[in-house]
Amino acid sequence: MDSVIVVGGGLAGLRAAQGLREGGHTGAITLVSAERHLPYDRPPLSKDVLAGAADDTTLEADWDALRCEVLLGERATGLRLDAPGAGGALASTAGELRFDGLVIATGAAPVTLPGGGRQRVLRTVEDALDLRAALVPGTRLAIVGAGWIGAEVATAAAAKGCAVTVVEAAEAPLASALGPEVGALTARWYAEAGVGLRTGVKVAAVEDGGLALAGGERIDADEVVVGVGVRPVLGWLEGSGLLLERGVVTDASFRATGADGAPRPDVVAVGDCAAWWSARYGRRLLVEHWDTALNAPAVAAAALLGRDAAYDAVPYFWSEQFGRMVQYAGVHGASERLVRRGDPAEAAWAVVWLTGDRLDAILAVGRPRDLVQARRVIAAGTPVDPAALADPGVPVRQA
Ligand code: FAD
Repeated sequence: MDSVIVVGGGLAGLRAAQGLREGGHTGAITLVSAERHLPYDRPPLSKDVLAGAADDTTLEADWDALRCEVLLGERATGLRLDAPGAGGALASTAGELRFDGLVIATGAAPVTLPGGGRQRVLRTVEDALDLRAALVPGTRLAIVGAGWIGAEVATAAAAKGCAVTVVEAAEAPLASALGPEVGALTARWYAEAGVGLRTGVKVAAVEDGGLALAGGERIDADEVVVGVGVRPVLGWLEGSGLLLERGVVTDASFRATGADGAPRPDVVAVGDCAAWWSARYGRRLLVEHWDTALNAPAVAAAALLGRDAAYDAVPYFWSEQFGRMVQYAGVHGASERLVRRGDPAEAAWAVVWLTGDRLDAILAVGRPRDLVQARRVIAAGTPVDPAALADPGVPVRQA
């Protein structure tokens, strides 16, 4: 393979370029990135950057060793594919670029709400620096969405003396990620931090000076941050013949599905924009988390270089909110029951999701050891003793 183009200069794009070199690719690599910065890390944006502890989160990379042409501030606008295995041409703001192999790593973009009022989102370093400047004592900040981003922004804003109100459509914070029962266990954190939390409330529109709620009520605010989720960036792939559902549909090696319904050997998709086949879960997963963007690209790069490897990791995510380290591993959508480890009123506790004597997932608050042990047990698929799991004094281990 002579030339590979990587579209998207986030973590997954950088890791794909690194994976190609580590996998022995000696041909050209071109990284096309819509942003004007070298790849940088996003998790610190809502933590250290908002808190004022960091301004620059550029990812470390040996660019000389990568021998990668980097086109910053350039955007892919379309894709024409030749026969499977024969590469194609990328339409971009830098002109048409031919390739033998293509990595799609365009990530995801925040969803916004109707209305003409100013709404901030948090995805880029510019978003973070601009928002930080607005977080001054007394600012009335309305945050729409009590998900991971909403909770982290609320944490930073409350610490800076803002008057923060979080509005959530579901019955509990984090309900869509964790379910309402577990999500509700985090509601007290908002109150303890002096953050107003209104659940079961739908926002109709963002207006000048605040939020219009579905029932007609208004919430006045100087600043509005919308954190209601992201959508994969796929618009430039319309008409390419690749199968697109919520993300680029791939096999377990991240090979994108071509017009003939078969995985293409010359096109892979990774990171927040990929809906990949998980043999472990027997379905497609779209995981919008850092760990997948870090580790999956090596598998995708190997696939592009003609080596078969399947990505089979147990999904992992963390969040830092209201002074707590919150970690999650697994997939719990179809689980039968929940077991608590410890008292959620305390600083450290966990819950685990089980099906029979199988551990499906864990949420660990201030219990990193539980997380590591549970992730190992989930990966191995070995049975556990549910009664022992309920005792926080007993390590998470197989029965
Ligand atoms: P992205 O990082 O979105 O990168 C994609 C890049 O492609 C972007 O630079 C984009 O501009 C570019 N692009 C898009 N379209 C085009 C185009 N047409 N042409 C060229 N370039 C294009 N995960 C965790 O597990 N834990 C956390 O605590 C956590 N915190 C987070 C906090 C914030 C504020 C954010 C935004 C995310 C956080 N995440 C966290 C999620 C994690 O950062 C993402 O999963 C990860 O960044 C995904 O990497 P990616 O490379 O797939 O996509």
